[in-house]
Amino acid sequence: MKLKLFAIAAFLFFSQQIFSQDSYLKVAAKDSTKVYTGGIKYEVKTFPQKFEAKKPQNVIMMIGDGMGLAQVFAALTANGGQLYLDNFKHIGFSKTQSSDDFITDSAAGGTALSTGQKTYNGAIGVNTDTVAIKTILEMAEDKGLATGLVSTSAITHATPASYIAHQGSRGSYEDIAADFMKTDIDVFIGGGYKHFTQRKDGRDLTRDLQHNGYQVLRDMDEIARVKSGKLAGLIADEHNDVYPNRKMDLPRSTETALNILGQNKKGFFIMVEGSQIDWGGHANNTIYVVNETLDFDRAIGKALEFAAKDGETLIIVTADHETGGMAVVGGDLKSGMVKGAYTTGGHSAIMVPIFSYGPGAENFTGIMENTDIAKNIIRLLGL
Ligand code: MG
Ligand code: ZN
Repeated sequence: MKLKLFAIAAFLFFSQQIFSQDSYLKVAAKDSTKVYTGGIKYEVKTFPQKFEAKKPQNVIMMIGDGMGLAQVFAALTANGGQLYLDNFKHIGFSKTQSSDDFITDSAAGGTALSTGQKTYNGAIGVNTDTVAIKTILEMAEDKGLATGLVSTSAITHATPASYIAHQGSRGSYEDIAADFMKTDIDVFIGGGYKHFTQRKDGRDLTRDLQHNGYQVLRDMDEIARVKSGKLAGLIADEHNDVYPNRKMDLPRSTETALNILGQNKKGFFIMVEGSQIDWGGHANNTIYVVNETLDFDRAIGKALEFAAKDGETLIIVTADHETGGMAVVGGDLKSGMVKGAYTTGGHSAIMVPIFSYGPGAENFTGIMENTDIAKNIIRLLGL
C-alpha cells in the first residue's frame, strides 16, 4: 500500500515536471483508465457531395488537438462504427514537425496551420526570429471577411492564440488576451475569462470589449441566444471543464458562431478547436480521449449542416499533432467498447489525418506539410 502511494506520488511529481507548462494535466492524470466501456451513441446524417461553387467563400478550420488516426478510430468504434467524419471524402496526411523539433507542440503546430510558416516550439504567431507573422484570421479580416474562434480550452491557449496573437512564448496568457484587442474578430467562445479580467496591469479587458461593441457573456444559454453582432463568450475562468462536466458546449458554440458569421456577405474564416483530445492523450485516458473526440465530431456535424446548406463553405478537419502515441488494441462495435494503449505521455511525431469537405476540398489530399494547409486556404480565399 505504502509502495503504491509512493508510486502515485512519484508519478504525479514526475508528470508535473514534464508538463509543468499547464496545470490541467495534473487533474487529468488522476483519472487514468485505458478502457472506454461504451456509452450513448448518436445517429450520423449523410450530407450531399455536390457543390455549385468551385472556390469556397467561407472556411471552417477544425483542429482536434492531439487527434491522430487512433483517436478517430477509437471514437468511431465507440459510436458503433460511424462518425460525422464519414462525410469527408477528401483525405490526406499532415507532417507536423516544427522548425526546431521533430515533435511539435501546439503553439508551433498552431502557428504552422495559422500562418503557413514553420516556427519553434512555444511560438505564438511569430517566426523563428520572434517576428510577428500575419495569420489567416488577420488576413481574412483585412479583406472584410468575418472571423471567429471557438475552443474548449481557454481562448488564450496555444491553438486559438496562434490565430490571433503574436507572442514569443505560449505562456504569456495576459499578453495574448491583450492581443485580442488589436483585432476586429467578430466572435470568440471559450474559456480564459481571468486572462481578460485578473491582470497584472490592472486592466479589465471585458470593459474594452464592451466599449468596442461586443456582447460579453459567460452563460452558454445566453451565448446560444445571440443571433448577430460581436460576441465574446468567456465561459470558464480558465479552461473549460472536461466533457460532459463543462458548461461550455462545443457543438452549440460552433452552431452559434456559424450563424452569426454566415451573415457576412463577403464570407468568413473560423477556427474551431476540440482542445481536450490532447489532454486525454497526455493522461493516457481512453475515456477522456473518446468523449472529447465524439464531442468534436458532433461539432463537425454542425459545421456540415451549415456547409451543406450554404454550398460555398469548405471544412477542413485536422490536428496539430498526435498525443499519447495511441493505439487501439481492442474494441467492440456493438457495445462501443474501446481499449487504448499508449507509448508516451507527450506528443508523437506521426503524421495526422486531414479531412476536407466542400468546394476546394480536393486541394487537401496526399502527404502535405502542415504549412501547406494554410497556404492552400490563403490561396483559395484569395487572401
Ligand atoms: Mg490546443
Ligand atoms: Zn499536448
